[in-house]
Amino acid sequence: MNITRRTILSSAAAGLASAMLAPRMAWAATEITLGDMRITTLSDGYLTQPADFMFAPMPQDELAAFLAERGMEREAPLLPECNLTLVRHEDRVILFDAGSGPGFMDSVGDLTNALAAVGVDPGDVTHVVFTHGHADHLWGVLDDFDDLVFANARHMMGREEHAFWADPATVDTIGEDRVPMAVGALRRLDALGDAMEVFADGEEILPGIAARASFGHTPGHMSFELRAGNAGVMVVGDAILNDHVAFAHPDWHFGADGDRALAAQSRAGLLDQLAHEQMTMIGFHLPNGGIGRVERQGEGFVFVPA
Ligand SMILES: [Zn+2]
Repeated sequence: MNITRRTILSSAAAGLASAMLAPRMAWAATEITLGDMRITTLSDGYLTQPADFMFAPMPQDELAAFLAERGMEREAPLLPECNLTLVRHEDRVILFDAGSGPGFMDSVGDLTNALAAVGVDPGDVTHVVFTHGHADHLWGVLDDFDDLVFANARHMMGREEHAFWADPATVDTIGEDRVPMAVGALRRLDALGDAMEVFADGEEILPGIAARASFGHTPGHMSFELRAGNAGVMVVGDAILNDHVAFAHPDWHFGADGDRALAAQSRAGLLDQLAHEQMTMIGFHLPNGGIGRVERQGEGFVFVPA
């Protein structure tokens, strides 16, 4: 597998540099190849989340010791990157997730700039494949004027995930703090209309790309296994949410997961397979483009960046 990495200090990164004590490089594009697939991760920016959004349900004493060992502060806001995966394969231009678009957070919504940096116009995208329906993955399908960004693309989402967000009753059941998420998702699914189709777990949704259920973060969250002969790359989306706790303690419950026990089960299953098969993985919120491998360490795992 060949790996090239390009850093492009985008306007957003320049803004970030002035907003934080230490400037941070933005990985606008990290590229690997798999057979005749060209796989590029593109930065949409980064999220800003209160620490409790992740850490609140975890065993606090053990967590404190774990974070202290890594020089991390328990209360510091989390700033996870958002890395979309672009696959150019034969005549297809496939985007995994659509980013946040305008109006979710100021620090995200860079996708169209990142696409331009690798020479792709949104109109060139033939397929947009969703891991799940959260804002940082779905909302980027609409632009400032509520027009479809990927106007020529087929949009594809797992059947269970689509059913959840397309159900008008979800707004009433999802919990007060997530109502804007449900309203925003429903509006986008309405706008997509016939441009959206659904698929099932295990289906080969496109040549060399199979859907793999990894439910829990959301009711129908999907990962995707890209194959070329014996080599594979797993696009895990938000089934593995960070490069520290999620690997070392996959059984701990994450505040950001909808069904925490089910998400922990999915996470452990993926990590086990990725470590066993030494398969390359791409995580949406993992650092420096999100590409790496998984190795066992003690009772848990460790992320090995590419
Ligand atoms: Zn996410």
